[in-house]
Amino acid sequence: MNAKTKIATCCALIAAAGMVRAAAQYQTFTQEKGKYAAFDASTTVTVECPDEAAAKWIASHYAEWYGDQAPKVKPGSTGLALQEGDEAYAATVDDSGVKVACRTLAGARWASYTLRQLAIAKRGTFKTEGRLLPVLRISDRPHLAFRAVHLCWFPEVRPQQIERAIRLAALLKFNYAIIEPWGMYESRKHPWWHWPNPTMTQAEVRRLVAIGKDIGITLIPQINCYGHASSARGCTIKHAMLDLQPEYEPLFEPGGWNWCLSNPETQRVLRELIAEMHENFGNPPYFHLGCDEAGAQTCPECVKTPNSVLVCRHITGLAEFVKSRGARPMIWHDMLLARGDPRWKGFVHCGNKDTATLADTLTKDVIICDWQYSYGNMKEARSDWPTMAYFKEKGFPVAGCPWRNYNAMKPMADYISKIGGFGFIETTWHHLRGKAWERMYQSAAHAAWGSVVSHGASFQISLRLVGHDMKVADYLDTGYLNYQVPPGWWVDND
Ligand SMILES: [Zn+2]
Repeated sequence: MNAKTKIATCCALIAAAGMVRAAAQYQTFTQEKGKYAAFDASTTVTVECPDEAAAKWIASHYAEWYGDQAPKVKPGSTGLALQEGDEAYAATVDDSGVKVACRTLAGARWASYTLRQLAIAKRGTFKTEGRLLPVLRISDRPHLAFRAVHLCWFPEVRPQQIERAIRLAALLKFNYAIIEPWGMYESRKHPWWHWPNPTMTQAEVRRLVAIGKDIGITLIPQINCYGHASSARGCTIKHAMLDLQPEYEPLFEPGGWNWCLSNPETQRVLRELIAEMHENFGNPPYFHLGCDEAGAQTCPECVKTPNSVLVCRHITGLAEFVKSRGARPMIWHDMLLARGDPRWKGFVHCGNKDTATLADTLTKDVIICDWQYSYGNMKEARSDWPTMAYFKEKGFPVAGCPWRNYNAMKPMADYISKIGGFGFIETTWHHLRGKAWERMYQSAAHAAWGSVVSHGASFQISLRLVGHDMKVADYLDTGYLNYQVPPGWWVDND
């Protein structure tokens, strides 16, 4: 009955005892089958951390999460050994109480999230009267240091959904969220650069940044500085600026997909937008400049300069500007790989021979975000990623960026780790809903953090905790779909 079961986990969401998995390199999780210990006001949680802020953070968040049923928190020695790294943590739960060891506040957060996800209400009462935790030992650390989600603030996405996505990412131990505004950022410097009534207001950004800082996830702003200048999906032929404000046409190439790179006003506008958004985000250590899926420059002024020179000058200028603000620039990778180059067959590559020269001419401190979506076989699992190897060999920090190619995520993260790459960015695009959202977040979290376990309840439990933290009262802010039955369905389909 009390046989110990060894489980490897990232989020330690193995509520069901008896599961046996091979221990991963990064985590060990040992649970006494069927045994639980009290986790309530009678419990003492001993926290060992060189940073005094760790125990204070845990105590204040227990008060928020558990109210008058919150366990007591005290600093003290635990005797627990830690794995390497700033984010490592270790914890034990038994009848004598809970022990948590970590080196930083980040480790304290991850430990707290793991235990919170495992806690269940005591049995046999009408309402919750304290909680139970499985008797366990866990030692945990991340696989990769930079673990991000990329979130799209479409006009159709409610701000509450963005907050839910940020909070949920933190609970699943992502430490960065890149936010792409899609015409929804309320620029005061350039109020023409958005759709009417943008919901990504400066006050909302400050609020979300503060939430992120508290829960351990840093928000990174993005502006598409080359292609995708319409701030709208190409398949919609919408343009967030030119559809309603044609007077800004000179800033864009004919058609509006690219910025006009020969117009000095373009650099001025983009630098002012970068500065405004970077400051609004609290001057984070990274800024994403976009730069994917650009078309050819076609205006009479741009074509006078070789495309390779024009594009490199434009991106380098903005990258240097980002660096002058104390941040590191990031760009998508695809314009740096030429279409037709046989080396990239089967991989995403959208450039031409001119833009591909950027791999040699661009400053090597730009972080290359290599998005590989296994187009053609979304179930693909592979161990080699030649485009990532290429950028690494060229001297760039490279991040692996999957989407819905779930099977590719773990091997991609392993490959990034093996080559000493920069990190892992889970892109979500217009699929931040339903089963795809669950599978993207869960598979990516396990890949980036380093677990081998996938457990169906982890997303559901964590999303519900997010709702509690947000104190949601609206039906739309529950579950992973807005509606169980789509509006109009009764009329159209009965
Ligand atoms: Zn032009």
